[in-house]
Amino acid sequence: MTTIDTHNHIIEVAIPLYLDRSFHYLVPAVMSAEAVPGKRALVPFGRRKLTGYILGRATESTVDNLKEILEVLDSEPLWTASEYEFFRWVASYYLHPLGEVLKTALPAGINVQSRKGSSGDDAALSGGKSVLREKFYLPGSGPEPVRSPGVKALEILEVIRESGDISATILRKRFGACTQQLKRLCELGLITAKEREIYRDPFKNLTVQRDEPRILHTHQKSALEAVSSCLDRQIFMPFLLYGVTGSGKTEIYLQAISHALEQGKSALVLVPEIALTPQLTGRFQARFGGGIAILHSGLSDGERYDEWRRIRRGLARIVIGARSAVFAPLEKIGIIIVDEEHEASFKQSDGLRYNARDLALVRGRMERAAVLLGSATPLVTSIHAAANGRLKLLELPERVENRPMPAVDLISMRGNKETIATQLATLLTETVETGQQAIVFLNRRGFATFLVCGDCGQPLTCPNCSVTLTYHRQRGQSVCHYCDYSVPAPGTCPACNAVELKELGAGTEKLEHNLRELLPRARIMRMDSDTTSGKGSHERLLSRMSNGTADILVGTQMIAKGHDFPGVTLVGVVNAEASLGMPDFRAAERTYQLLSQVIGRAGRGEKPGRVVVQACDTEHYAIRSAAEHDAAGFYKQELDFRREAGYPPFTFLAAMAVSGITEQIVSEQSEQTARLLSRIKKELKVRVELLGPAPAPIYRLRGRYRRQILLKATTRAELHRLILAWRKSADTPSTVRVTVDIDPLDLM
Ligand code: ADP
Ligand code: ZN
Repeated sequence: MTTIDTHNHIIEVAIPLYLDRSFHYLVPAVMSAEAVPGKRALVPFGRRKLTGYILGRATESTVDNLKEILEVLDSEPLWTASEYEFFRWVASYYLHPLGEVLKTALPAGINVQSRKGSSGDDAALSGGKSVLREKFYLPGSGPEPVRSPGVKALEILEVIRESGDISATILRKRFGACTQQLKRLCELGLITAKEREIYRDPFKNLTVQRDEPRILHTHQKSALEAVSSCLDRQIFMPFLLYGVTGSGKTEIYLQAISHALEQGKSALVLVPEIALTPQLTGRFQARFGGGIAILHSGLSDGERYDEWRRIRRGLARIVIGARSAVFAPLEKIGIIIVDEEHEASFKQSDGLRYNARDLALVRGRMERAAVLLGSATPLVTSIHAAANGRLKLLELPERVENRPMPAVDLISMRGNKETIATQLATLLTETVETGQQAIVFLNRRGFATFLVCGDCGQPLTCPNCSVTLTYHRQRGQSVCHYCDYSVPAPGTCPACNAVELKELGAGTEKLEHNLRELLPRARIMRMDSDTTSGKGSHERLLSRMSNGTADILVGTQMIAKGHDFPGVTLVGVVNAEASLGMPDFRAAERTYQLLSQVIGRAGRGEKPGRVVVQACDTEHYAIRSAAEHDAAGFYKQELDFRREAGYPPFTFLAAMAVSGITEQIVSEQSEQTARLLSRIKKELKVRVELLGPAPAPIYRLRGRYRRQILLKATTRAELHRLILAWRKSADTPSTVRVTVDIDPLDLM
C-alpha cells in the first residue's frame, strides 16, 4: 500500500495500449505543481518509456513500490473537463481503452512535437514559429533502368510522374511504408527528393469573394427559425434537415452559424472527407472571412497540430472537418452540423471504430448545442428517428427558385452489351454540341472489372485477398483494390499459363475510353481514386468543371458528392446496380442514396436537367425509387424490410471479427469465441441473438483469414453487458486478433 506523504502525490495515468485499465504513478515533489490532469507524462512502463495521459489524482494505491513519472510533457492541459467527460463516454460506448481514445482524439503532431524537447509545446502554444518542413518527390532525369526496381517502386514512380510533385506523407498514405522503394528510385535517378516548408494555411491558395446571406425561401425560413430558437434557449436539440439536392441546405448551415456566432458561441461542421472541396470551404470563407479552422486527412501532422492549437486557443470559432473533427478542442459550441449525414465515411474502420455522426449527437447533448444532421438522402435510421420524434424533422421539399428535379429515363440494359446505351450517347452528343456539361457515373474504377482466362475460365484473383484483380490498362497492371497487390497485365493466366485473357465488366477507365471514341472532340475528364492521388488533383478536376473548360466528367462515387455545377444538364448512370450485389443488408439503402445523389447533380442551374439511368434490374425498388424521386416509397419499403429481417433501426448490432494468418486457428478461435459468448449470454440472461461465426464476405484480406460473429439485440444495454462480460473472461491467444465493432457499417 502506497499513501501520499507531504511531498509526493499519486496520479492516475492512461496508457495508449490495448489495456482495459489505467495505472498509478508517483509524482516527484519537483513536478508536483506541473503534473495536473489533461497533460501527458513520460512514464516507465515495464522496460519501456511511454507517453501516458494524466487523468486525475488518486488518494491511495494498492500497489507497492509505485514508480515515479519521468517528465511532464505539456505546459498546459490538452483537454477541458467537459471534453474529458466526452472521451470517457466514447471509451465506454465503444468498449475501447481510454488511453487509445485519447490518442485518437488528440492530433498526431502533438507527439512529434514533444520529442523535439520539452520546450516544443511552449514555443508552439505561444505562437512561436516552428517551421515545419516536409520531403517532396519529383520525377528525375535518370535513364530507364535496365533492371526493374520492383513492382511497387514502379507504381510509386508512376504516381510521382503523374503528379509532378508529391509529398512523402501522401505517398505513405497511399502505399504504406515505402522508404526503401523511394531510396532505390532516388539512387537510380528516376526521382529526386526535395525538402521544403509546407503550407500552414489551408486557405493560402484560395481567393474568394465576399458573399452575403441570401433571402431565404419559406421552407428555409422555418427551418432556420427552428434552429435559431434552439440556439436562443441554449438547449440541446437534434434536427434532421431533410432537403432534396439543391434545396439550399448549405445556406441554412451558414445562417445558423451566423446566429451562433452572434451569441458568442462557436460552430463545428462535420463533412465527409470527399466533400471537403474548396467549393464548400470556399463558401464558408466567403461568408465568414477568417476564423475558420480546417481539419482533414490531407493535412500533414504538423498542419493538423497547428489547426488544433488555433482552435484550442480560441482563434478559430468555426471548425470544418472530416470525422476526427468531432474531437476538436472547441469550447462553447452552439451548433454542430453534420453535412451528408448518411455518408459511411463518418465511421472509422479501424482502431477506435467510432461514428462521428453519432458522436455529434452525444457531444451536442453534453454541450447543450443544436445538432443539425443534413442530407438529401438521410439514413433509413434517421428517417425512422424523425418519425418517432427523436430527431426534429426540418424539410426542404423543393429546389431553390422552384427549379424542377431532373427528368429521369430508366433504361433496361438486359441483353444489351453496349456500355453506353444509344439514348445516352445521343443526349451526350447534343449536350456537348450545345455547350453544356455532362456527368457520367459508374461505380467501378479500372478498365475491366477483371480478367478471365480464355482457356481455363479462371478469373485473376489476389493471392492475399479473396477478390478478383481489377485490370488497369493505362498502368498495364491488374490490381487488388484492397491490398494494392499488382501484376503486369494483361499477362498470362497464373493457373494454366494461357496468354489469352478476356476482359469482363467495364470500369471508369474503359468508360472514358468509350466516350472518347464516341465524342472525339469533347473535353473529357475522369475522376476516381486513380486520377486524384496527386496533391490538388481533385480540386483541379472540379475547377475545370466549374469554369467550363471541361465538357464531360466521368467518375466513380467521388463525383456524386455534394458538388454544385450549374452547367451540368445531363447525368448518365452506367450499371446502376453495381452496388446492389454487395452481401450487406444496407446494399439497397446505399444504392438508393448514391443514385439519388448522382441524379441530383443534373439541372442545378437555370437550365433543367435530364438523367439516363442504365440498369439490368429496372424493377428493383432502390433503383426505381431513385429514378422516380420517390423517397417516401423507398423509405417505407426499406423500413418494412428492416423490421422483418430484424436489422437497425429495429435492432442494435455489434460485430466481432476474428482474424489471423492460419485458417485453422482462426476457425477454432472463432468457434471458441462464439461458445463463450453464448455461455455468458445464458448466465446473464440477456436477449442477444448470436449469428455465426461465418466467414466474412471477403474471407481473406491482406493475407488474413477472417470470421465474423454478428450480435443483434433489442437494447444497447444488453449488447454492452454481454460484450463487457466476454472481455473479462476471454483469453485470446496472440495468433489471432479479435476486434469489436459497435454499430458496424462495414460487414464485408
Ligand atoms: P444544397 O446544400 O441543399 O444542395 P445549396 O445550399 O448548395 O443546396 O443551394 C443550391 C444553390 O442555390 C446554391 O448555389 C445556393 O447559393 C443557392 N441558394 C440557396 N438558397 C438560396 C436562396 N434562398 N435564394 C437564392 N439562392 C439560394
Ligand atoms: Zn489483395
